[in-house]
Amino acid sequence: MEIEKILQSQRDFFKTQQTKSLAFRKMYLEKLKSLIISNENMLYEAINKDFGKSEFDTFTTELSFILNDINYYIKNLKTLSKPKKVSTNLVNQLGNSKIYADPLGCILVIGAWNYPYQLSLSPIIAAMAAGNCCILKPSEIASNTMKAMVSIINENFPPEYLYGYEGGIDETTALLTLKFDKIFFTGSTKVGKIVYKAAAEHLTPVTLELGGKSPAIVTQHANLEMAAKRIVWGKFLNAGQTCVAPDYLLVEETIQEQFLEMLRKYIKQFKYEVDSEQYTRIINQRNFQRLIRLINKEKIYSGGHFDEEKLYIEPTILNSIDWNDEIMQEEIFGPLLPIINFQNYNAALNAIIELEKPLAAYLFTNDSEEKENFTRKLSFGGGCINDTIMHLSNDHLPFGGVGNSGIGNYHGKYGFEAFSHQKAVLEKATWGEPDIKYPPYSEKKLSWIKKLL
Ligand code: NAD
Repeated sequence: MEIEKILQSQRDFFKTQQTKSLAFRKMYLEKLKSLIISNENMLYEAINKDFGKSEFDTFTTELSFILNDINYYIKNLKTLSKPKKVSTNLVNQLGNSKIYADPLGCILVIGAWNYPYQLSLSPIIAAMAAGNCCILKPSEIASNTMKAMVSIINENFPPEYLYGYEGGIDETTALLTLKFDKIFFTGSTKVGKIVYKAAAEHLTPVTLELGGKSPAIVTQHANLEMAAKRIVWGKFLNAGQTCVAPDYLLVEETIQEQFLEMLRKYIKQFKYEVDSEQYTRIINQRNFQRLIRLINKEKIYSGGHFDEEKLYIEPTILNSIDWNDEIMQEEIFGPLLPIINFQNYNAALNAIIELEKPLAAYLFTNDSEEKENFTRKLSFGGGCINDTIMHLSNDHLPFGGVGNSGIGNYHGKYGFEAFSHQKAVLEKATWGEPDIKYPPYSEKKLSWIKKLL
């Protein structure tokens, strides 16, 4: 069946109203959960084939997220979808006002390859919970995980409700010409713009989960041991191929030597070695070559080794980096950590403000004024004080970018809202209507209206 026909069948199915029943949504969320559990080993094998990701990392950063999402929505489905009563203003008295979370219809989810399961299935789960039909187009770059997800979906779900579609740029370009009720895209800012333009043709709303250069700042008031440990973990997890990984570090000059030593110590302690099971490979030759070119040998503080055949790049710290260096011109998306020194904290913040708004930002300090300036002055999608990445594991927080790093957000109730229309309904009583809003108008009516409004 062609994809256009699938989409038409989803439109027809949505109109039957079946996806709106809570029992229907719950049944299919439970089904997806049991499929993920029963296919766990197949999912581990596929991602390991794609880029050597370990079972530990896949469980903690992918499958546990998805299972938590499903559990969250099953538990909160009734509350989330219940019409919300709000107050009714004076002129509408003898009425009541409610907001209905209305499913949007047919959703297209386009995934990225770096956390292929989480970034494809988390939005799908939120869209299912909100009562929609969906087509998932995972990233073709992680081809084994794409095939694994598509086969799980297409062998177990009716295509008129949920369908997995394999494809690369050509297929996605064709998909984008069709009219969806929402497009949820995760990927680069460059492709995000293509998606946004295509969506505009049909006035389709979008959520764009994009990337950018996320800074981490370490001041002299930080707990340096803790900062080093958490930065090394957040940066080299998935070999730096994480959208919210600290892209570069700004380190206060007075602590620089001591801090670099600590970073080196944790890199060694975490054993990110060439044949290590806990260290992920670079996804493909293209990205490997791009990253190798960014290593300026003269600025290597530690690391710098690589193995082309194994697509391995050692965690590499580059010191004395300047804002004009090549590595500072694009999102790194790999295990290279450039360090820029600063003398004045506010000047460092101002330097970040001059750049595109990042997806994440991190500050390491115990000084309350520094914390206050960071949260108030800097615009970024989300972030942490004294940690990296962990903000997105709290599903009470919205996850998304701002400016160049994205539009909209999801996770928890925000995911449900991303796939719902907030439908406003005012219900009026059919008795007790004062006459003053109706023609013929008079001075007296106007003076009453002025008092009332
Ligand atoms: P990408 O933009 O190259 O690809 C994403 C998706 O778009 C894929 O499914 C791909 O098939 C499709 N695509 C690629 N080129 C296209 C084109 N010309 N027309 C239509 N569709 C096209 O991104 P990627 O390499 O998969 O992921 C890396 C980027 O994604 C990084 O910038 C990273 O920061 C960002 N990212 C963001 C998040 C987030 O949650 N905000 C998460 C992961 C990755």
